[in-house]
Amino acid sequence: MEFNILQHFKGLKDMPTDPFNGDDIGAALFMTGGMGDKISDKVDEGARKVGMDRRSFMKSGLGFSAAMLAANEITGMKFFEVEKAEAADLAAKQEAIQVARASADFVVDVHTHVCTRPGHYEVGKNATERGMWFVQLLDDLGKAFGLKNGTRDMNIENYGKLILQESDTTVGIFNPFGFREDYGGEDMIPMAYQKQVRDKWPKNTIMLAGGLTPNHGLDVTLDRLRQYAQEDKISGLKLYTFDSTKKKGWWFDDEKLAYPMWEECRKLGIKNIGCHKGIPFGQFYARYAHCEDFDATADDFLDLNFIAYHSAWPYHQELAAMKGFKPQRKNLYSEVGSTFAATVTSRPLECAHVLGTLLRDLGPDYVLWGTDSLLWGNPQWQIDAFRKFQIPDQLVEGHGYPKITDEIRRKVLGENAARIWNIDKKAAMTAKAEIVSTAHA
Ligand SMILES: [Zn+2]
Repeated sequence: MEFNILQHFKGLKDMPTDPFNGDDIGAALFMTGGMGDKISDKVDEGARKVGMDRRSFMKSGLGFSAAMLAANEITGMKFFEVEKAEAADLAAKQEAIQVARASADFVVDVHTHVCTRPGHYEVGKNATERGMWFVQLLDDLGKAFGLKNGTRDMNIENYGKLILQESDTTVGIFNPFGFREDYGGEDMIPMAYQKQVRDKWPKNTIMLAGGLTPNHGLDVTLDRLRQYAQEDKISGLKLYTFDSTKKKGWWFDDEKLAYPMWEECRKLGIKNIGCHKGIPFGQFYARYAHCEDFDATADDFLDLNFIAYHSAWPYHQELAAMKGFKPQRKNLYSEVGSTFAATVTSRPLECAHVLGTLLRDLGPDYVLWGTDSLLWGNPQWQIDAFRKFQIPDQLVEGHGYPKITDEIRRKVLGENAARIWNIDKKAAMTAKAEIVSTAHA
């Protein structure tokens, strides 16, 4: 995620939240987003009914359920399949969690980040002003979720705590930030730092590489790509088509600049190629956040998978059309990180349209789960919200969207990623159980 949600979720900064407690974060986002005031009133009403103060109600998880019920009531549509008892009775809440977990317990988060590096970032020393601007954005975000030291707390230790221990995530796929020109000639998140994450949790993490900027020169870019594959043993790419060079960006379907990279990927056995699409943040231009360059590329490299991160939102319809009108496609994927998080608590109608469009046109086998954590704190609130989320009947009838079944949830939450990354599910589940049990021993 790279857009300023603090302007959208007004008041989040001033609402105390525990970054380790997903329920608390989830409730806080509902209470500060587009329907924030109305939802807050209803959450407070719910707390009074059970004789709890607001903080305890939020931290207990009841507040999160109350917020989802409030969103249904305020909009007059059933976006969340939550029973009233889940907002009033801890036992009922626990049981609902267990039922949801049992129906989809294998969770692959395709979009996670660590957001610091040894020595961190210092303007003039190893970061430009522009580079610091992005760090500041992420810092503010982390602090709003209760991470006292902002990005400094989005480190390896907290990656383990928030994503692998405290959430149901079985496997986290971590994505790099490159942007070397803004960070003293070194990737914002260096590979050496990322490797420590993988080494610590080899069965529960997967490492992607980024930082390929062909406008720096194709030879040096191909060299880097080979190094990623042969020395760093990466499992795919997560790239950015906007850059800080004079050209400001590049396209996936550029036969001179980009196709040699995809040809090299073929040789190196790299199959999954992701790219930041949509969310045209900060200093970068929207034209490079559109996904139309996936069109020719996907046809010319049928053996590679192309993944549009953020589902190209708010241009997700362009992405969906590329499969809606070309149903023969089998290598075009979307990932929902930050798009789901930013819309579900605040604009559930938009969330339903986005998910509905992706599921209808790309199909349930081509939508991947992602949360963009650690940028959004503990991802558990997103997992819970997705397990409860439904496309209301009104939209199913009028738009031809599918209802979100348990089977679709399983595919999106984990099965699809397991398929394209060849994940050993059993080994990952066993290792996950160990992480959780040692954490709580
Ligand atoms: Zn991200």
